[in-house]
Amino acid sequence: MALFLEAVMTKKDIIVLLETIATYMELSLENPFKVSAYRKAAAAIEADGRSLAEIEDFSVIKGIGKGVNEVIVEYRDTESSTVLDNLKTAVPEGLVRMLKIPTLGPKKIAKIHKELGIASMEELKEACEHKEVSALSGFGAKTEENISKAIDELLTRPERYPIERIISFRTAVENVLEGMKTVRKYDVAGSGRRFRETSRDLDYIIEVTDVAEFTEKFLESSFIKDTVAQGEKKLSVTIENDMDEINVDFRFVTADEYFTTLHHFTGSKDHNVKMRQIAKSRGEKISEYGVETDDGMKTFESEAAFFDHFGLPYIPPAMRETGEETETDVSGIVSMDDIKGDLHMHTVYSDGAFSVREMIEACIAKGYEYMIITDHSKSLRVANGLYENRVYRQIEEIKGLRAEYPEIDIYTGTEMDILKDGTLDYSDNLLAELDYVIAAIHSSFSQTEDEIMHRLRSACENPHVRHIAHPTGRLIGRRAGYPVNMPELISMAKDTGTVLEVNANPRRLDLSSDVIRHSGLKLTVNTDAHHTDHLEFMNYGVATLQKGLIQKGDVINTFSREAFRKFVNKGK
Ligand SMILES: [Zn+2]
Ligand SMILES: [Zn+2]
Repeated sequence: MALFLEAVMTKKDIIVLLETIATYMELSLENPFKVSAYRKAAAAIEADGRSLAEIEDFSVIKGIGKGVNEVIVEYRDTESSTVLDNLKTAVPEGLVRMLKIPTLGPKKIAKIHKELGIASMEELKEACEHKEVSALSGFGAKTEENISKAIDELLTRPERYPIERIISFRTAVENVLEGMKTVRKYDVAGSGRRFRETSRDLDYIIEVTDVAEFTEKFLESSFIKDTVAQGEKKLSVTIENDMDEINVDFRFVTADEYFTTLHHFTGSKDHNVKMRQIAKSRGEKISEYGVETDDGMKTFESEAAFFDHFGLPYIPPAMRETGEETETDVSGIVSMDDIKGDLHMHTVYSDGAFSVREMIEACIAKGYEYMIITDHSKSLRVANGLYENRVYRQIEEIKGLRAEYPEIDIYTGTEMDILKDGTLDYSDNLLAELDYVIAAIHSSFSQTEDEIMHRLRSACENPHVRHIAHPTGRLIGRRAGYPVNMPELISMAKDTGTVLEVNANPRRLDLSSDVIRHSGLKLTVNTDAHHTDHLEFMNYGVATLQKGLIQKGDVINTFSREAFRKFVNKGK
């Protein structure tokens, strides 16, 4: 499966580099003029409407001085930066960790460090308790209390991690497993394999040629914090990744047991209960070692063979939740192979990292038959949203590119803001010029449910708006989103012929599987890519649809090229 790794350097990487240098400089109390030169350069690159490949010479961009340009050139050529490396050695790591405390910027951290000699989160916590922080000028009692609370949260390990963090943990672990000769086969099991929105820990089923060798090598990995248990059957460790800790279990199995063990530890509990009932009705018994039949213990060469033994089609892990999946005809449920296009993505026109052409080539490489370019609209200033003249310019550019890429249908579009009062960010005249219009809420999340529903209604009722992006605005484990009356939105969408999105970005997965299951909605699943690598997020969105037991026919980007063209041209 594709985890997200951003392999290609983009403009964003340069911006992050410059901002990181500025932050480290502030932490080390560097001259404010120098700091601001880096921040100005980052802003200038952000505002420049070209992708990295299109910018030949950074030094001619207004706002980038000679010194900063040298830093950019070095980084672009070598993927490393001497300036940043030197700063990293000079600044205590504890200060960098403190940046995770909300409301505490680099300048304040530098002040705390300088005046109180504090270099770690634990020391800062103690200083808060002794009221030393509030004694500093610029820090009140309230700030001190907030810092203290935030440290408590940061130092307690959460019960469960959102899927986006789980993906980072998995990437770290699996990169190590991929490089080990003794590893024959492995799979993550449990909620991670089922693409749950959150997971408590990671559970691997693994076949190795030599358990002792595996254990010795794996324990040498730099992310190991603690070894919880170590034996012939199981290795249990705690690992650290980006300041977070999680438990990782490895169950060593033989080739024979592999798939029944994998099935057993994938769960869910309810799914396993259903499977055991089915086995029982045939006079058989499922265990993690195999299936006990009259002819003795039976083992399997794949999970598909295991399901087939019980007269069931292969049930993808994402679907294994309530048990209902064992009684449903899963053959029509949407899968990755059904996805023919991505309808929501950004380019350098707004806050994406790649040009329109680069996004087209990336979609072609994925084998898509159609795609829609949907940059942000003018009111979303933080994302460099497009004023009308730039929308027209993009339409012209896309028209020109169509002839060069006959293998894919490239539609013009927008992800238009639904403003605070329910008006839409572009006029109907402009919307009529676009092939496809997405509407979304990106502001005033703290409004009442009535106000939010008024905004969503106004978008659904607009004749040009085809779909609502990330309908609740939630970020898993981080932000609840704005208040939506879901039954009302669902009937509004149906009444107006507006499609609702399952946003495949693992930070969002919005709508969630619980909302879409049995909803009868017309849906679409899109990556909302801001980078060509983000196009790989599609499998998280499809897993969410599978969890909701959504049929292929209810997802508009499974349509054939022809059918999708008709859908676009027909209008609402
Ligand atoms: Zn959006
Ligand atoms: Zn978007």
